[in-house]
Amino acid sequence: MVLAQQKTVKSGFDVDSVRRDFPALRLEPYGKPLVYLDSAASAQKPEVMIKAEARCYRESYANVHRGVHYLSAKATVAYEEARRKVAGFLGAADPNEIVFVRGTTEAINLVASSYGRRHVGEGDEVLVTTMEHHSNIVPWQLLCEEKGAKLKVAPIDDRGDVILEEMEALLSERTKLVATVHVSNALGTVNPVERIVELAHARGIPVLLDGAQAAPHMPLAVAALGCDFYTMSGHKAFGPSGIGALYGRKELLDAMPPYQGGGEMIRTVTFEKSEFAPSPAKFEAGTPNIVGAIALGATVDYLEALGMHRVEAYERELLAYGTEALESVSGLRLIGTARHKASVLSFVLDGVHPHDIGTILDREGVAIRTGHHCAQPVMDRYGVPATARASLALYNTRSDIDRLVEALGKVREVFG
Ligand code: PLP
Repeated sequence: MVLAQQKTVKSGFDVDSVRRDFPALRLEPYGKPLVYLDSAASAQKPEVMIKAEARCYRESYANVHRGVHYLSAKATVAYEEARRKVAGFLGAADPNEIVFVRGTTEAINLVASSYGRRHVGEGDEVLVTTMEHHSNIVPWQLLCEEKGAKLKVAPIDDRGDVILEEMEALLSERTKLVATVHVSNALGTVNPVERIVELAHARGIPVLLDGAQAAPHMPLAVAALGCDFYTMSGHKAFGPSGIGALYGRKELLDAMPPYQGGGEMIRTVTFEKSEFAPSPAKFEAGTPNIVGAIALGATVDYLEALGMHRVEAYERELLAYGTEALESVSGLRLIGTARHKASVLSFVLDGVHPHDIGTILDREGVAIRTGHHCAQPVMDRYGVPATARASLALYNTRSDIDRLVEALGKVREVFG
C-alpha cells in the first residue's frame, strides 16, 4: 500500500490540521480507523459548527423577529447575520436574496410551487438534464402534471457530459425554466453552468442551479454567474442538517407569491385579506430553524477561513489520485468520466453487486454509498441498477484512497 504524505501535495492545503477539526474522523468502526467517503450523502461536522449550535442553545436562544426582549433580539441578530454570511459564501449581492429552507429539496419545491405555478402553463416546458437528482425532477413533474406542461430532458454522453448542442436545441419559446444540477451527485460531472445560463438567458429563460454538491467543493459566485435561483444544503457543506439556502434574484423573489402561509411571513392579517412581508420573510413561514441557520453561518466562516479556492485545488489533486487508483483495480469501471469533475468516484465492479461492495468495505472501516443515489435516470442511462460511490471532501486524504483500494482487494478475495 502506498501511504502518501499529505503535506506534500501541491495545493499546500494542510489536510492533517483540517482533519483535527472533525471529531468524527477519529472514530474507529470495528476497531479500524474510519475512512469516510460518503460526504456526497452528508458531510461530517467541524467542532466549530458543533460548538456554535451548543453555544446558541446555551447563550442566545429565543424565537426570532417577534420578541422585544434581550434573548430574542440576540437570536434575531445572529439569525440575520447568518443570512449575510451565507449570501457572502454563495456570492450573492444582497442578503435578502437568501431564503432559509430545509435544504435543496425544499428550495426546489419552493421555486416550483411559487415561481413555477405562476409562470408555467399548459403546453409550456421545463428543461432538466438526464443527470438530475430526483429532487430536481419530481417537483417539476408534479408541476407539469398540474399545469399540462412538459418536462424536457437534455441528454448526456457516455462520459457524463451534458450534450450542449442538444440542450440548446431543446430551448424554445415554450421553455419557461431551465433547472439543472451544478455538480452531479451520481457522476461528479461539473456542468458548464456559465454556458447554460448564457444559452438560456439569450432566450429570456431563467435558470435554477442545484448547488447541493457544488457548495462544499468550490468557490461560488451566483451574482457574477447570473443564474436566477441557486440552492444549497447545509448538511452537505459540513453544516447542520435541516437547514439550507435558496438564492433567488431579488426581482424574482419580490414578484413571487408565498410558498407557505403562516406566522412570520405576513405584514397584516384580517379575515378578509392578508398582506405579505417582503422577501425573504415572505418565504419563511413559521418558526425557522434558528439554530441551524446560525450554526450554518459558523460553518461558512470556517470554510471561508480555509479558502474555497484552496479546497477546490486540494480536492482536484485528490480526485486525480483517486481516479488513477481506481482505474488500476481490475474489473472496475468508473461511471462518470466527464472532462470536468468534482469529488465523486462512482463505479461498478465485474460480478459484484454494489451493495456487497459497500458491506465488505464497511467491515474494513471504509464508508461509501451504494444504490441509485436518487438519480435513477442516470442508472438507466448507463444500464446499471446501482453503483458504488466514494465521495471525497476537504478532509479526505490519499491514504483514504489507498485504504479504499486495499478494501476493494478484500472484495475481490471474497468474490474472486
Ligand atoms: N441535489 C443533489 C445533486 C443532491 O446530491 C442532493 C442530495 O443528495 C439533493 C439535491 C437533495 O438534497 P437534500 O436532501 O439536502 O434536500
